[in-house]
Amino acid sequence: MRFLILLFALFLTVGAAAEPTYLQADAPVEERVSDLLGRMTLAEKVGQMTQLNLTLYNSTGEQGDVDVIEEKFIPLVRDHHVGSFLNGAAATPTVWAKYGETIQRLNLANSRLKIPLIYGVDHVHGANYLTGGTIFPQPINLAATFNDQHAKAMAEVTALEVADLGHHWIFAPILDIAVNPYWPRFYETFGEEPTVAARMGSTYVRALQEAPSIEPYKLAATAKHFLGYSNSDSGWDRSPAQIPDQYLQEFFVPPFASSVQAGVKTVMINSAEINGIPTHANPKILQKLLREQLGFQGVAVTDWEDILYLVSRHKVARDEREATKMALDAGVDMSMTALTTTFPGVVISLVEDGEISRERIDRSVARILRLKFELGLFENPYPRTDRFSRVGTEANRRLAQEAADQSLVLLKNEGVLPLVGGKVAVLGEAARSKRILSGGWTLNHQGKAEEFYPKDMLTVSQALEEEFGALVAPKNADLVVAVIAEQPYAEGSGDITDLNFPASELETLKQAVETGKPVALVVVGGRPRVIGPLETKVSATIWAGLPGFEGARSIAGVLSGRINPSGKLPFNYPSSPGHHVTVFHKNNDRDTSLYRFGHGLSYTTFEYSNLVMSGDVATVTVINSGKKAGRESVLWFLTDEVGRTTRPVKRLLDYQSLNLEPGQSQKLTVRLKPTDFSYPDADGKPQQESGWHELRVGSQKARMEKQF
Ligand code: BGC
Repeated sequence: MRFLILLFALFLTVGAAAEPTYLQADAPVEERVSDLLGRMTLAEKVGQMTQLNLTLYNSTGEQGDVDVIEEKFIPLVRDHHVGSFLNGAAATPTVWAKYGETIQRLNLANSRLKIPLIYGVDHVHGANYLTGGTIFPQPINLAATFNDQHAKAMAEVTALEVADLGHHWIFAPILDIAVNPYWPRFYETFGEEPTVAARMGSTYVRALQEAPSIEPYKLAATAKHFLGYSNSDSGWDRSPAQIPDQYLQEFFVPPFASSVQAGVKTVMINSAEINGIPTHANPKILQKLLREQLGFQGVAVTDWEDILYLVSRHKVARDEREATKMALDAGVDMSMTALTTTFPGVVISLVEDGEISRERIDRSVARILRLKFELGLFENPYPRTDRFSRVGTEANRRLAQEAADQSLVLLKNEGVLPLVGGKVAVLGEAARSKRILSGGWTLNHQGKAEEFYPKDMLTVSQALEEEFGALVAPKNADLVVAVIAEQPYAEGSGDITDLNFPASELETLKQAVETGKPVALVVVGGRPRVIGPLETKVSATIWAGLPGFEGARSIAGVLSGRINPSGKLPFNYPSSPGHHVTVFHKNNDRDTSLYRFGHGLSYTTFEYSNLVMSGDVATVTVINSGKKAGRESVLWFLTDEVGRTTRPVKRLLDYQSLNLEPGQSQKLTVRLKPTDFSYPDADGKPQQESGWHELRVGSQKARMEKQF
C-alpha cells in the first residue's frame, strides 16, 4: 500500500512537472511570460508581433465577410505563427462566434505551444459591427452630454454584447482632440477640450477593461492614435502636423496620460507625422514620451500598414527592411501589417544579421504574451453561444437612447420650441435616411446602404410622425423642420476641401426658409460644417451630431419638449470655412465662432450664485429657476491672468452634470490642486504659475492669487 501511495505521489509530481508553468492558470503572470518566452523560437516570437486582416483568408476579400477559408488561414498560423488578426463588419452573434471558434481552433491546432490568438475589432460606438447590436451615438455626441456615465455605459454595453464573440481587443477609445473641423475623424473624438477626452476616455477604458458581467472573458481597450494625429495642417486624414513640444504636452498628452493611469492595455500609434517625423519612426514619442514619461507598460500596435507607409507614403525608408528596423527601434511592439505577410521574415533577417537584438524582440513579445495572459485567453480561448440574449436588449438600447437624448444641443431658440401640439412639415432628403444618423464605423467601415439598417430604427421623418402625428405640407405647418446632413464617411474618404455644408443641404435649408414659416434647423453630421447666412433666418437650430440608431427619437423629443435639451457644444462651431479657433485659444486670437464651446440652451433656466473660494475649495449654487425639470452641465473654467508664456484664454477645469426639478438647487464643489495652476513645459515638467487666476462657472467669477 505504502508503495502504491509513493507511486501515486511520484505520478502527481511528474504529472505536475509535465504541465509547463505558462499553462498553469494560477501561476503568476510574469512567471508564465518568461516560461513561455523561454520555449519560443525566434519565428514564433516574431509571429506574435504580427497582426493580419481577415481579408487574407475570407472567401471574398471583402471586409464584411466573416468566414474562413481553411487553406488560406492555416499557413498564416502554421508557417508565419501569426498571433493576432483583426477586422470585420456587421455579422450576427452566431456567425461571429462560429468564426471566432474556427480561427482559434485552427490556430491552436497549428500552434506548437498552443498560444491563443487575439482578435481586434473597431467597436467604437457600441457594438457597431454586430447585427442586432446596440449602437450608441458617436463619441462627439457623448462629449456633448458632459456626463461621463454615458462613456461608462457605452463601454459596458459594448463589452456585454461582444466579449462572448471572440472579440478580445476593442480599438477604442479615440483620444485625439478635435482641433480642426475639417478633420474627417472629428466625430470619433470626445471633442476639442483635452479635459473631456481625458475623463471620458479613461472612464471608457476602466469600464471596458474591468467589465464584471463578461466573465470569464476580459477585454483590452486601445488608446488611439498616439498622438497629435488630429492637428493636421490641411485638415485631411493622415496628413502632416507641426506641433511644438510644449503645445503637444499641454493639449495632446493629457487624454493619453489619464488612460495610461486607468491601466489601458494597448496603444495604437498615429499614422501621420509630427514635425517631419512619422510617429511610427519616432523614438521620442514612442519611447521617451509613452514609456518613460507616461509609464505605459502595455502593447504599442501600429495603425494600418504603417511600417510599409514609411516607405510608400512618408518616404523616410528605402525599403521594408529599413522601415521595419526604424519602427522597431522607435518602439513598435506589433505590426498591423495588415495585408502582407512579409513582416515576420524581415524581422527574422534583421535579428539574424545582428541589426536588431534578441532582447529587443523579447521585450515586445513579453508585452504581447502578458496581454494574452491578463485577458485569460489561455484559459478561455473560445467564444460562447449561450448568452446572445444579452445583445441589443431593451435595457442596452435604453442606455444608448439616454446618451442620444442628452447629447443634442439646442443652439438657438427664438420662442418656437418646444412645439406643443402643432403641425409639422419636414424637408430634406436626410430626414428619410437612417444611415446619416450614425456616420462611419457603423455596420461597415463607411456605413452601409439604407436597406441594411434595422427595420425598427426610425428616420427623423418617422420619429416626427410618431411624435406629432401625420406630417403636413409646409403651407399647413406650424413648424417646418429642415434636416441637413453629411453622408457617412470614415477616415480619408471624408476629406473635404470646403467646410461649407454641401449645396444640396443648403438648398433644403433655403427652401425651408422660403416657406415663410418658422423653421427649426436640425444639423446632422460628424463635424461642424458651416451653415452660412441662412442660419440667421431660422427660428431654432439643433446640433444633432451623429446620435446613432436611437437618435431620431431624441430629435423628435427635443422638438416636442418631451425631452428637455441639455447638451452643450464640445467644440467651437465655426461661422466661416476660413477661420476657427478652439476654446483654449490664446488671448491674441479672436473667436469668431457661430456658437462657442459650452453653449447649449434648455427649456428651463438655471441660475448660478454664491461662488465662494475657501482655501482650495470652490463652491457654487445652481438652481433650476424655470418651470421644467432639466439637466444642467456645469462647466468650470480657469484662466491664468498673466503667464510666463502666453496662456489660453481659458481651460476647462472640471465639469459635472445634474438633474434639477423646478425650484430645486444644488451646491457644487471643486477642489483645486496645485497642478491646476501649472502647465507642462516642452519636457512635460509642470511649471507652477504664481499670480492671479480667475475661476468662472455659469455667470459667476472669482479671482485668486497663488504663490508657489
Ligand atoms: C484606423 C484605426 C483602426 C484601424 C483598424 C485604421 O485605418 O486608423 O483607427 O483601428 O484602421 O481598423
